Amino acid sequence: MTITKSGYVAIVGRPNVGKSTLINTLLGEKVSIISPKPQTTRWQILGIQTVKKAQIIYIDTPGIHEAEKRAINRYMNRVASSVIEDADVILFLVDGKTWQKEDELVLKKLKAAKGPVILVVNKIDLFTDKKMLLPVIDKLKNKFEFESIIPISALEAENTKELEKEIIKLLPEGEQLYPEDQLTDKSVRFQIAEIIREKLIRLTEEELPYTTTVEIENFQEEEKLVRINALIWVERPGQKIIVIGKKGAKLKKVGIQARHEIEKLVDKKVFLQLWVKVKENWTDDQKSLKTFGYE
Ligand code: GDP
Ligand code: MG
Repeated sequence: MTITKSGYVAIVGRPNVGKSTLINTLLGEKVSIISPKPQTTRWQILGIQTVKKAQIIYIDTPGIHEAEKRAINRYMNRVASSVIEDADVILFLVDGKTWQKEDELVLKKLKAAKGPVILVVNKIDLFTDKKMLLPVIDKLKNKFEFESIIPISALEAENTKELEKEIIKLLPEGEQLYPEDQLTDKSVRFQIAEIIREKLIRLTEEELPYTTTVEIENFQEEEKLVRINALIWVERPGQKIIVIGKKGAKLKKVGIQARHEIEKLVDKKVFLQLWVKVKENWTDDQKSLKTFGYE
Protein backbone atom coordinates (compact mmCIF):
# COMPACT_ATOMS: atom_id res chain seq x y z
CA MET A 1 0.00 0.00 0.00
CA THR A 2 1.33 3.41 -0.87
CA ILE A 3 1.51 6.00 1.83
CA THR A 4 0.19 9.36 0.71
CA LYS A 5 0.13 11.21 4.04
CA SER A 6 2.70 11.33 6.80
CA GLY A 7 3.86 13.59 9.57
CA TYR A 8 4.74 14.27 13.17
CA VAL A 9 2.05 14.54 15.81
CA ALA A 10 2.99 16.00 19.18
CA ILE A 11 1.10 14.94 22.26
CA VAL A 12 1.35 17.75 24.78
CA GLY A 13 -0.18 18.25 28.16
CA ARG A 14 0.74 18.58 31.80
CA PRO A 15 1.91 15.48 33.69
CA ASN A 16 -0.77 12.88 34.43
CA VAL A 17 -3.37 13.83 31.82
CA GLY A 18 -2.82 10.51 30.03
CA LYS A 19 -0.31 11.17 27.23
CA SER A 20 1.55 7.88 27.57
CA THR A 21 -1.72 5.97 27.93
CA LEU A 22 -3.01 7.55 24.73
CA ILE A 23 0.12 6.68 22.75
CA ASN A 24 -0.09 3.11 23.97
CA THR A 25 -3.79 2.86 23.11
CA LEU A 26 -3.26 4.31 19.64
CA LEU A 27 -0.36 2.01 18.92
CA GLY A 28 -1.73 -1.02 20.70
CA GLU A 29 1.71 -1.77 22.12
CA LYS A 30 3.73 -0.62 25.02
CA VAL A 31 6.27 1.85 23.74
CA SER A 32 6.18 4.50 26.41
CA ILE A 33 6.22 3.93 30.13
CA ILE A 34 3.10 4.56 32.18
CA SER A 35 2.98 5.19 35.87
CA PRO A 36 0.35 6.60 38.21
CA LYS A 37 2.99 9.09 39.30
CA PRO A 38 3.66 12.15 37.15
CA GLN A 39 6.92 12.94 35.42
CA THR A 40 7.96 9.47 34.39
CA THR A 41 8.36 10.33 30.74
CA ARG A 42 11.51 12.34 30.26
CA TRP A 43 12.55 11.55 26.74
CA GLN A 44 10.63 12.09 23.58
CA ILE A 45 9.19 8.69 22.90
CA LEU A 46 8.45 8.22 19.24
CA GLY A 47 5.60 5.91 18.36
CA ILE A 48 4.94 5.11 14.73
CA GLN A 49 1.54 4.10 13.39
CA THR A 50 0.97 3.01 9.84
CA VAL A 51 -2.73 2.98 8.97
CA LYS A 52 -4.15 2.59 5.51
CA LYS A 53 -2.52 5.34 3.48
CA ALA A 54 -1.07 7.32 6.33
CA GLN A 55 1.92 7.15 8.61
CA ILE A 56 1.60 8.99 11.90
CA ILE A 57 4.68 9.59 14.01
CA TYR A 58 3.70 10.43 17.56
CA ILE A 59 5.97 12.39 19.80
CA ASP A 60 5.44 12.20 23.52
CA THR A 61 6.77 15.24 25.35
CA PRO A 62 8.18 15.56 28.82
CA GLY A 63 5.87 17.32 31.25
CA ILE A 64 5.91 21.06 31.10
CA HIS A 65 6.90 22.01 34.59
CA GLU A 66 5.90 24.89 36.70
CA ALA A 67 9.28 25.29 38.34
CA GLU A 68 12.06 25.99 35.92
CA LYS A 69 14.64 26.32 38.64
CA ARG A 70 16.44 23.08 38.01
CA ALA A 71 18.50 22.48 34.91
CA ILE A 72 16.63 19.28 34.08
CA ASN A 73 13.25 21.05 34.20
CA ARG A 74 14.50 23.84 31.98
CA TYR A 75 15.84 21.24 29.57
CA MET A 76 12.52 19.36 29.50
CA ASN A 77 10.61 22.57 28.87
CA ARG A 78 12.87 23.42 25.97
CA VAL A 79 12.28 19.99 24.46
CA ALA A 80 8.52 20.41 24.79
CA SER A 81 8.59 23.86 23.18
CA SER A 82 10.57 22.71 20.17
CA VAL A 83 8.28 19.72 19.72
CA ILE A 84 5.22 22.01 19.66
CA GLU A 85 6.87 24.30 17.15
CA ASP A 86 7.96 21.58 14.74
CA ALA A 87 4.99 19.21 14.79
CA ASP A 88 2.61 18.92 11.84
CA VAL A 89 -0.34 18.37 14.17
CA ILE A 90 -0.53 19.03 17.90
CA LEU A 91 -2.74 17.17 20.33
CA PHE A 92 -3.37 19.22 23.44
CA LEU A 93 -4.41 16.66 26.00
CA VAL A 94 -6.38 17.72 29.07
CA ASP A 95 -8.12 15.89 31.87
CA GLY A 96 -11.86 16.52 31.50
CA LYS A 97 -12.27 16.53 35.26
CA THR A 98 -9.59 19.02 36.24
CA TRP A 99 -8.09 22.13 34.74
CA GLN A 100 -4.95 23.21 36.57
CA LYS A 101 -2.42 26.01 36.54
CA GLU A 102 -0.05 23.74 34.66
CA ASP A 103 -2.61 23.32 31.87
CA GLU A 104 -2.53 27.09 31.53
CA LEU A 105 1.26 26.94 31.14
CA VAL A 106 0.98 24.37 28.37
CA LEU A 107 -1.70 26.47 26.71
CA LYS A 108 0.74 29.39 26.57
CA LYS A 109 3.27 27.17 24.80
CA LEU A 110 0.70 26.37 22.12
CA LYS A 111 1.16 29.84 20.70
CA ALA A 112 4.40 28.58 19.15
CA ALA A 113 2.48 25.95 17.18
CA LYS A 114 2.62 26.23 13.42
CA GLY A 115 0.35 23.27 12.79
CA PRO A 116 -3.31 22.75 13.73
CA VAL A 117 -4.06 22.01 17.38
CA ILE A 118 -6.66 19.43 18.39
CA LEU A 119 -8.02 19.75 21.90
CA VAL A 120 -8.32 16.22 23.27
CA VAL A 121 -10.47 16.01 26.38
CA ASN A 122 -9.39 12.79 28.07
CA LYS A 123 -10.77 10.57 30.84
CA ILE A 124 -14.41 10.92 29.76
CA ASP A 125 -15.01 7.47 31.27
CA LEU A 126 -15.04 9.31 34.59
CA PHE A 127 -18.21 11.13 33.53
CA THR A 128 -21.14 8.90 34.36
CA ASP A 129 -23.46 11.50 32.91
CA LYS A 130 -21.98 12.46 29.54
CA LYS A 131 -24.11 15.63 29.48
CA MET A 132 -21.80 17.00 32.17
CA LEU A 133 -19.09 17.14 29.51
CA LEU A 134 -20.82 19.92 27.60
CA PRO A 135 -20.12 22.77 30.04
CA VAL A 136 -16.51 21.54 30.31
CA ILE A 137 -16.02 21.69 26.55
CA ASP A 138 -17.82 25.03 26.41
CA LYS A 139 -15.31 26.51 28.81
CA LEU A 140 -12.29 25.07 27.06
CA LYS A 141 -13.20 25.94 23.51
CA ASN A 142 -12.59 29.67 23.97
CA LYS A 143 -9.10 29.25 25.34
CA PHE A 144 -7.44 28.80 21.95
CA GLU A 145 -8.27 28.53 18.28
CA PHE A 146 -8.55 24.78 18.23
CA GLU A 147 -8.92 23.01 14.91
CA SER A 148 -11.29 20.59 16.59
CA ILE A 149 -12.29 19.26 20.00
CA ILE A 150 -12.42 15.52 20.59
CA PRO A 151 -13.46 13.92 23.89
CA ILE A 152 -11.89 10.51 24.50
CA SER A 153 -10.99 7.93 27.07
CA ALA A 154 -7.42 6.84 26.38
CA LEU A 155 -7.76 4.15 29.02
CA GLU A 156 -10.89 2.56 27.57
CA ALA A 157 -10.14 3.37 23.92
CA GLU A 158 -13.35 5.35 23.71
CA ASN A 159 -13.56 7.62 20.64
CA THR A 160 -9.84 7.14 19.93
CA LYS A 161 -10.63 5.91 16.40
CA GLU A 162 -12.36 9.25 15.76
CA LEU A 163 -9.26 11.01 16.98
CA GLU A 164 -7.15 8.92 14.63
CA LYS A 165 -9.37 9.86 11.69
CA GLU A 166 -9.12 13.55 12.52
CA ILE A 167 -5.33 13.33 12.78
CA ILE A 168 -5.07 11.64 9.39
CA LYS A 169 -7.32 14.30 7.91
CA LEU A 170 -4.95 17.01 9.15
CA LEU A 171 -1.69 15.30 8.20
CA PRO A 172 0.23 16.83 5.32
CA GLU A 173 0.76 14.96 2.06
CA GLY A 174 3.91 12.93 2.37
CA GLU A 175 5.60 9.66 1.74
CA GLN A 176 6.39 6.76 4.06
CA LEU A 177 9.08 7.77 6.52
CA TYR A 178 9.63 4.53 8.44
CA PRO A 179 9.23 0.81 7.74
CA GLU A 180 5.67 -0.40 8.34
CA ASP A 181 6.47 -2.78 11.17
CA GLN A 182 8.55 -0.32 13.12
CA LEU A 183 6.93 0.93 16.28
CA THR A 184 9.66 3.04 17.79
CA ASP A 185 13.01 4.49 16.82
CA LYS A 186 14.40 4.11 20.31
CA SER A 187 17.42 1.87 20.64
CA VAL A 188 17.13 -1.39 22.54
CA ARG A 189 19.56 0.04 25.10
CA PHE A 190 17.30 3.00 25.70
CA GLN A 191 14.23 0.80 26.05
CA ILE A 192 16.06 -1.42 28.53
CA ALA A 193 17.05 1.59 30.64
CA GLU A 194 13.40 2.75 30.61
CA ILE A 195 12.13 -0.69 31.66
CA ILE A 196 14.51 -0.74 34.63
CA ARG A 197 13.55 2.80 35.59
CA GLU A 198 9.86 1.98 35.39
CA LYS A 199 10.23 -1.02 37.73
CA LEU A 200 12.27 1.10 40.07
CA ILE A 201 9.66 3.86 40.22
CA ARG A 202 6.83 1.39 40.68
CA LEU A 203 8.53 -0.60 43.42
CA THR A 204 9.81 2.34 45.43
CA GLU A 205 6.51 4.23 45.16
CA GLU A 206 6.58 7.57 46.95
CA GLU A 207 10.01 7.04 48.41
CA LEU A 208 12.00 7.89 45.34
CA PRO A 209 11.84 11.11 43.34
CA TYR A 210 11.97 11.15 39.56
CA THR A 211 15.61 12.22 39.69
CA THR A 212 16.77 8.63 39.29
CA THR A 213 18.36 7.69 36.03
CA VAL A 214 19.54 4.42 34.56
CA GLU A 215 22.65 4.02 32.46
CA ILE A 216 23.35 0.87 30.47
CA GLU A 217 27.04 0.38 31.07
CA ASN A 218 27.47 -2.84 29.19
CA PHE A 219 25.28 -4.69 26.70
CA GLN A 220 26.70 -7.87 25.32
CA GLU A 221 24.71 -10.09 23.02
CA GLU A 222 25.71 -13.73 22.83
CA GLU A 223 24.06 -16.52 20.87
CA LYS A 224 21.51 -17.46 23.51
CA LEU A 225 22.04 -14.84 26.15
CA VAL A 226 22.24 -11.10 26.61
CA ARG A 227 24.46 -9.78 29.39
CA ILE A 228 23.53 -6.37 30.73
CA ASN A 229 25.21 -4.22 33.34
CA ALA A 230 23.18 -1.24 34.40
CA LEU A 231 23.93 1.62 36.75
CA ILE A 232 21.14 3.22 38.73
CA TRP A 233 22.11 6.78 39.53
CA VAL A 234 20.57 8.43 42.57
CA GLU A 235 21.19 11.82 44.14
CA ARG A 236 21.73 10.96 47.78
CA PRO A 237 23.10 8.09 49.91
CA GLY A 238 19.66 7.84 51.54
CA GLN A 239 18.10 7.09 48.16
CA LYS A 240 20.69 4.40 47.55
CA ILE A 241 19.54 2.68 50.74
CA ILE A 242 15.91 2.88 49.58
CA VAL A 243 16.70 1.41 46.18
CA ILE A 244 18.73 -1.46 47.61
CA GLY A 245 16.20 -2.24 50.34
CA LYS A 246 16.54 -4.58 53.32
CA LYS A 247 19.28 -7.10 52.55
CA GLY A 248 19.07 -6.07 48.90
CA ALA A 249 15.46 -7.23 48.59
CA LYS A 250 14.16 -4.20 46.69
CA LEU A 251 16.94 -4.15 44.13
CA LYS A 252 16.53 -7.88 43.63
CA LYS A 253 12.82 -7.43 42.91
CA VAL A 254 13.53 -4.61 40.45
CA GLY A 255 16.06 -6.85 38.74
CA ILE A 256 13.69 -9.83 38.46
CA GLN A 257 10.78 -7.80 37.11
CA ALA A 258 12.96 -5.86 34.68
CA ARG A 259 14.67 -9.03 33.48
CA HIS A 260 11.34 -10.67 32.59
CA GLU A 261 10.31 -7.71 30.49
CA ILE A 262 13.72 -7.30 28.85
CA GLU A 263 13.69 -10.99 27.92
CA LYS A 264 10.47 -10.39 26.00
CA LEU A 265 12.00 -7.37 24.28
CA VAL A 266 15.23 -9.06 23.15
CA ASP A 267 13.70 -12.53 22.80
CA LYS A 268 16.65 -14.15 24.59
CA LYS A 269 17.64 -15.09 28.12
CA VAL A 270 18.95 -12.10 29.99
CA PHE A 271 21.63 -11.86 32.63
CA LEU A 272 21.08 -8.55 34.34
CA GLN A 273 23.36 -6.92 36.88
CA LEU A 274 22.29 -3.74 38.64
CA TRP A 275 24.51 -1.32 40.53
CA VAL A 276 23.39 1.70 42.50
CA LYS A 277 25.61 4.78 42.51
CA VAL A 278 25.29 8.20 44.08
CA LYS A 279 25.87 11.31 42.05
CA GLU A 280 25.08 14.35 44.18
CA ASN A 281 22.71 16.90 42.61
CA TRP A 282 23.06 15.55 39.12
CA THR A 283 19.75 17.02 38.02
CA ASP A 284 21.00 20.49 38.82
CA ASP A 285 24.25 20.22 37.01
CA GLN A 286 24.35 21.08 33.31
CA LYS A 287 27.55 19.11 32.79
CA SER A 288 26.10 15.98 34.31
CA LEU A 289 23.02 16.31 32.15
CA LYS A 290 25.30 16.18 29.15
CA THR A 291 27.09 13.08 30.31
CA PHE A 292 23.73 11.38 30.76
CA GLY A 293 22.78 12.25 27.22
CA TYR A 294 20.17 14.91 27.89
CA GLU A 295 21.64 17.48 25.53
P1 GDP B 1 1.06 11.29 31.34
O1 GDP B 1 1.84 11.76 32.53
O2 GDP B 1 0.33 12.42 30.69
O3 GDP B 1 1.86 10.48 30.37
O4 GDP B 1 -0.11 10.34 31.93
P2 GDP B 1 -0.19 8.74 31.99
O5 GDP B 1 -0.52 8.17 30.66
O6 GDP B 1 1.02 8.23 32.67
O7 GDP B 1 -1.50 8.57 32.90
C1 GDP B 1 -1.58 9.12 34.21
C2 GDP B 1 -2.67 8.40 34.99
O8 GDP B 1 -3.96 8.68 34.42
C3 GDP B 1 -2.53 6.88 34.98
O9 GDP B 1 -2.91 6.42 36.25
C4 GDP B 1 -3.51 6.43 33.92
O10 GDP B 1 -3.99 5.13 34.12
C5 GDP B 1 -4.61 7.46 34.08
N1 GDP B 1 -5.40 7.64 32.83
C6 GDP B 1 -4.91 7.89 31.59
N2 GDP B 1 -5.92 7.97 30.69
C7 GDP B 1 -7.07 7.76 31.36
C8 GDP B 1 -8.49 7.70 30.99
O11 GDP B 1 -8.88 7.84 29.83
N3 GDP B 1 -9.37 7.47 32.00
C9 GDP B 1 -8.98 7.30 33.29
N4 GDP B 1 -9.94 7.07 34.19
N5 GDP B 1 -7.70 7.34 33.67
C10 GDP B 1 -6.75 7.56 32.73
MG1 MG C 1 3.85 10.05 30.33
